[in-house]
Order: sequence, then structure tokens, then C-alpha cells
Amino acid sequence: MQTPTEETIQPTKSFKDLGLNSKILKSIAEVGFTQPSPIQEKAIPVVLEGKDVIAQAQTGTGKTAAFALPIIQNLQNNKSVEALIITPTRELAMQVSDEIFKLGKSSRTRTICVYGGQSIRKQCELLERNPQVMIATPGRLLDHLKNKRLKRFAPKVVVLDESDEMLDMGFLDDIEEIFDYLPEDAQILLFSATMPPPIKELANKILQNPVSIHIAPTHVTNADITQRFYVINEHERNEAIMRLLDKETPSKSIIFMRMKREVDELHQFLSAKGYKTTPLHGDMEQRARLASIKAFKSKQADVLIATDVASRGLDISDVSHVFNYHMPLNTESYIHRIGRTGRAGKKGVAITLVTPLEYKELQRMQKDIGSSLELYEIPHMDEDRLIQALSKVEVDAEVVSLYEQLTEQFEPSQLVLKLLSLQFKSHKVDLDRIFAEQKPSESKKSPRSSKPRRNGRFKDSRRRY
Ligand code: ADP
Ligand code: MG
Repeated sequence: MQTPTEETIQPTKSFKDLGLNSKILKSIAEVGFTQPSPIQEKAIPVVLEGKDVIAQAQTGTGKTAAFALPIIQNLQNNKSVEALIITPTRELAMQVSDEIFKLGKSSRTRTICVYGGQSIRKQCELLERNPQVMIATPGRLLDHLKNKRLKRFAPKVVVLDESDEMLDMGFLDDIEEIFDYLPEDAQILLFSATMPPPIKELANKILQNPVSIHIAPTHVTNADITQRFYVINEHERNEAIMRLLDKETPSKSIIFMRMKREVDELHQFLSAKGYKTTPLHGDMEQRARLASIKAFKSKQADVLIATDVASRGLDISDVSHVFNYHMPLNTESYIHRIGRTGRAGKKGVAITLVTPLEYKELQRMQKDIGSSLELYEIPHMDEDRLIQALSKVEVDAEVVSLYEQLTEQFEPSQLVLKLLSLQFKSHKVDLDRIFAEQKPSESKKSPRSSKPRRNGRFKDSRRRY
């Protein structure tokens, strides 16, 4: 296993040093890659040798080219599919196919993409053109295999790409079944950003004497990504997102949400307010999903609102900001999400909204990540928004009676000034108070925060912990 220190002291190799031939080197140069990434440096020579590989490297580290380059070089130009790449989603299949097309340009690599939603007849027609590399999603592939639509199908190399996502999407059984139809002596490559136990078990079942490659994650401490946490109350999430979008003016941002329904709701809410948002989740039709990704890539929309599963692995560059609408469910999800920004040496900002109830989760994550996380307050409203908001406020009787009591104490104009100052000028949130004031009934709702919080501990570590 690789440690970061070993990584850094090793001299970096060139693509040529890894054993790639001149045709491929030409395509690599055309694509603009100058140096192999660490996962490419480790994986390319072993894949070229024909060995099984289990490789783990975080999102955005160039895993596609790590398997695609040696696979392209090893193709024999037979009249049957020589390489099969299985990806969890249609979007990823198309992305991998694009990359292979570019990297295999000089070698004239013929690819086919096979995924659900496309007409079976059309796919069969395309198969007649003797593709060398098939990129497929599990469901449709299994369908073709079961119905014996793939003739002379004996790929020499099989890749499971983004395996952890296959697990998340419930594809592991399909994958095992697919292997019943594949030649036993095929070279198998398993690539994943994380290695949860079920993926390791799968690897044990289907790989033979694999070479293990693990590139330690670096981007959580990557100085290119600024990580900030904003303290809010549960009902303030939409408002907080709006104020952050206004203040940060991201060139392109992704807002991550937990549920498909929330994605649609926030998309409606923000687009009604004039933000150029576009949604992405698994319940959308394939065409709508592709249109959404296209709109975001072309900057027709500059805010993508997405669920984890729909967006993982997608290579979208130039994302300046990632927003976590809720605390992500676990550290892995957090790392995946913030890895959508700060790519290819560019700067990025990752902003997470946390409520006092999510504080325990934040602490747990801080331990996993091992870097200090900073807490911030939501920037205050600007004048225009305040005027807009005021024009919509309805005054109820309770407030009228409060107003009457207060105007016995203060002049109305003084009262307005004082209230405004209270609300907007002193926007130093008293975090101690916020966390200390968690009502016991609220705490009970969250299984993780059933114990009363110790005030003193938080006081010492506030802001930076
Ligand atoms: P992963 O599968 O690990 O998430 P990708 O294969 O999608 O990562 O690669 C992320 C991005 O990095 C892509 O845009 C890809 O073209 C680019 N890339 C890959 N390898 C290199 C390299 N050696 N130099 C520069 N960019 C690279
Ligand atoms: Mg990938």
C-alpha cells in the first residue's frame, strides 16, 4: 500500500516511461495530458502486462485514462468486442466512451455504448460494425447477455468502473450475474474511489491474484479547496443558499441534496427567484438528464442542483463552488462532493450548511478528515433583498401587540433602527448560545445527539475545531 510520503519522494515518470507506444503518445499529447497522474503511473504498466488490478484513487484523479490507455494499446483489432467496461450510469458510460474516443484517435479505436433507454434494435445494428470496446451499464448489458444478442462475445479484458457507485445503486448482483457470461480467463480491472467491504468481497470472488493499487486521498487537505461551514437553523437553508450565491457569485456551482424531491423543490424555488439553476437526479428521463448536464457544461445554467448518485463520477470542470445543502450522510460522500471543485489545479470553495443538530456529525467528519474545519456565519441580507422581503411580510396580531408594548419604551424610528441593527449589523452569531439553546425535545429527534451537549467543550473549540 502506498503512503503519501512514498508518493512524493518518487520521481515522476512520463507516459513514455510507462510503456505506451507512439500512437497512443500522440493522442495523449493531442488531448493535452503532459504527465501521468499517480494512479496512471501505477496502473498503466500492470494493466499492459495483462494482470488483474484492484485500484482505488479518489474522484478526479484520472482513473479512466489509467485503464483506457493500456487497454487501447493492447487491442488486437479483432472482429469482436475485446474490452468491456461496465459503468453505473449512462452519463458515465458516455463520458468514458468520449475519453476512449479521444485517447484512441490515432489508434482508430472503435467503441460502442450500451445502456438502457436506447432502442435495442439500434444497439444491435451498431454491434454489427465490429466495435472493439464496449462501454455498458449493468442492466442493459445483462439483458443482451440473457437474450443471447451478443454474438462471439468473449472480451479479453473487463473493467468495473466506479465500483462503489455500482454498490450504491444496487448493481452488485447484476455484476455477479454478468460474470457468469464472461470468459474465465479475462483480465479484470476494478476501479473505485472508495473500497467498502462489499466491493472487496466482490473483488475476492472475481479477480485472480490481483495487483492492489491504492493512492491515498489528498484533496481533503488540498489547499486548492477552501472548506467552510455555515451555521444555520433548519428553516433557513433556502435563504442561506440564496445569500451565499449572492455573496460568493460562483462562476459555476453545484448544490448537493439528499433526495430527488428536494432537488426539484429547490430548483423551482431558486429559478423563481431568478437564479439559473438546472436539476439532476435519477428520476429524470435520460434526455432531460443529458440536457441538464449540457446546460450546465455550456453555462446556460450556472447552478446544478443534484443528488449524489446522479452526479458522482461526472467530469464537469470549472466548478468554482460546491454547496452541501445538508451535512452529507458520511465522510465519503463529503469527499466525493467537494472533489467536484478544485480540479486540475484550479481553486474551489466547498460550503456546507450545518444546523446545531448536525454538529455531532460535523465533529465525526472532522475526525475522519483530520483537518481543521472553520465555522462561519451567513452573510447578511443586502438592501434590495431586504426591501423585497419586507414587501412580502404579513403582520399578525401578536406582532401588533408587541409593537404597542415596545413603542411605549422607544420612539418608532428608534425602534426600527434598533431592530435592524439587531438583525443585520451584529451578524456575529453567538455560536455558544445557538448550540446551548438546543431544546431537549429537538435533541431527542436525532439519535446521534441524545446526550446533552457539554457547553464548556464547545466554548473552547468554537470556530475552529
Ligand atoms: P476519475 O475517474 O478518477 O474520477 P477522470 O478519469 O474522470 O477521473 O479524470 C478527471 C479529469 O482529469 C478528466 O477531465 C481527464 O481528462 C483529466 N485527466 C486525466 N488524466 C490526466 C492527466 N494525466 N493530465 C491532465 N488531465 C488528466
Ligand atoms: Mg471515473
